[in-house]
Formats: sequence, structure tokens, C-alpha cells
Amino acid sequence: MASKSSKPTLYLVSPCYNEEEVLPTTYSMFTEKIENLVKQKRISEKSRILFVNDGSSDSTWSIIQGLAKKSKFIEGVSLSRNRGHQNALLAGLMEAKDKCDVTITLDCDGQHDINAVDEMMDKYCEGYEVVYGVRNNREGDSLLKKIFSEFYYVLLKSLGGEIITNHADYRLVSSKVLNEFRNYEEVNIFLRGLFPLVGFKSTTIKYNQLDRTAGKSHYSLSKMFNLAFDGITSLSIKPIVFVGLLGLLIMVLSLINFVVSIYRHDELWVAANLISFLLGTVLTSIGVIGQYVGKTYMETKHRPRYIISEKTYK
Ligand code: UDP
Ligand code: MG
Repeated sequence: MASKSSKPTLYLVSPCYNEEEVLPTTYSMFTEKIENLVKQKRISEKSRILFVNDGSSDSTWSIIQGLAKKSKFIEGVSLSRNRGHQNALLAGLMEAKDKCDVTITLDCDGQHDINAVDEMMDKYCEGYEVVYGVRNNREGDSLLKKIFSEFYYVLLKSLGGEIITNHADYRLVSSKVLNEFRNYEEVNIFLRGLFPLVGFKSTTIKYNQLDRTAGKSHYSLSKMFNLAFDGITSLSIKPIVFVGLLGLLIMVLSLINFVVSIYRHDELWVAANLISFLLGTVLTSIGVIGQYVGKTYMETKHRPRYIISEKTYK
């Protein structure tokens, strides 16, 4: 296996949205990790932690600015408004890619066990370009989230999405891969499903998901459903195919029904049921297709996916 440069420059990229309660604790865990790796000569002194402020309305950005003044290992960028977890990650990765050999994305709330960084770096040094963190457990997630997530991975895989079960954006990606990834210009991004499409030598490592160090989750049920739906529409067009097949099936069934109802002389009852059933199906189908049309419309606009309004560096 090809081995990499002995002291790669690592960027930890961490998105932050209204995290004033948690940042003062987690930043020191992250800094300690970087300092230790530098001391052990496993990464270069140019390695950094890049916090991405995702349009927070609390004091998150001023905390990041303060930390960047205090520690040479900390940098920050601020987005012009809240763009969501995935876009914040993207902004951080695109900012970092030209300044480092390798990036690791992780949440800033302490749920992604920082100690897994060592194993990810070992894998990188062995020659892997992408290392997916896979959680051993789901501490800190509600029962509803656990059930939804299990069901979702099965659904996405059955629709043809290439996705790693229980991987949630705690991931090492080399700048070599990011340089190819930047050509994926879609607005509808679902990073954990896109990196497998980029390819390159990849592997997984296990980590323990921890409880949030402080503060509370910003993933409301509606944000979670939106991310889930973006995942499906970003990776698969099978739902449209299913809608077409369903339409065909219903056409055949209604034809049979039609014949049977004529034979039995109870047309009214059968017809009434059939019409409401058909109406429901047609509306659902239009809804599914409409989602894809809507997403296509958004893509054709080529709007920027994020705007960086401030940086702690030049
Ligand atoms: N986050 C973000 N923008 C958002 C929502 C969340 O950058 O609009 C960040 C958040 O600060 C955290 C990570 O994404 O670092 C994961 O969010 P959270 O912990 O709220 O979600 P959960 O872990 O509960 O799924
Ligand atoms: Mg969290």
C-alpha cells in the first residue's frame, strides 16, 4: 500500500449553529487533540481546526473569533446566513482543501468522539483517501430518531443509493478527493451519499457516539425529514419509476374492477371506491414528481450554495 507524506497537514472542519453553550468545552478537546498529534509528529504544525459559523443568531461567531485570537490552531469562517449543516460542511471543506492534505469533518457538540481521529489518520497514512466514521451506538438520539434512521438506511439502499449504514458526516477526506468533489455542483447535497460516488480508496472505522456536551440538537423533525428526502432525491430517481409502475398497476386493477362490477351489477359502490383511490394515487404521484421537478428548477438557477461573509484570517 502506498504510504503518504509522514507529516500531513490536517484540517478539522466543524460546523456550528447556535452553539455558544458547547463551543467553550469542545474547542479545548479539539485543540488538545491537534496539539498532541503535532507533538507526536503525526501531523504538521500547519494543521488547524476550522469552525464554520452557519449564520448563528447567538454569540457563536464572536466566540470563534475570540478562540482564533487565542490559539494559532483555530480558524473560523462565517456564512452570511443559516444554510444548514450540509452547506456549512461544504463551505468548510472548500475553504480547507487548498491549505491541507487531509480534512476530517465532525460536529462541534462533542457527539463525534474526537479520539477516533487517531485511527482515521492511521488509515490515511496506510493509503486510504476517504475514511467513514461509523457509530457503534446511538447515545443521545431519541427512540423516534433511531427507528427512523434504521428504516431510512434500508429504504435508501433499496432505491439504489450507495450509503454506509450508521455513517453521519464524521469523515476523513483527502484534499485529492476534494479536488474532484468540487466538480459536483448540485444544490441538493447529501454529502454522505455523494462521497461514495466520487470513489477513491475508502474504508470505515467504528466510533462511539457520545451525548451532546451541552446545548440541544438543532435537527428538528422537519429538518431531519428534509435531509432524508434530499438524500433520496439526490441519489435516486427510482421513486418516479415506482410512481409510473403504480399508475400502470392501478390501470390494470381498475380495468378488472370495471369488468367485475358490470358482471355483478353493483357498479356504484365499486366505482365510488375506485375513484377516491385513483384520486389519492394521482395526487401522491403528482406530489412525488413535483418534488423532482422542483429540485430540477432549483438546480437550474445555479445559485451559490453558501456565501462566506467573514473570516478570522486573510
Ligand atoms: N448545524 C449547522 N447548521 C444547522 C444545524 C446544525 O451547522 O442548520 C451543526 C451543529 O452546530 C452541529 C452539527 O451541525 O455541529 C449537527 O447538528 P446537531 O447536533 O444539532 O444535530 P444532531 O446531532 O442532533 O443530529
Ligand atoms: Mg449533535
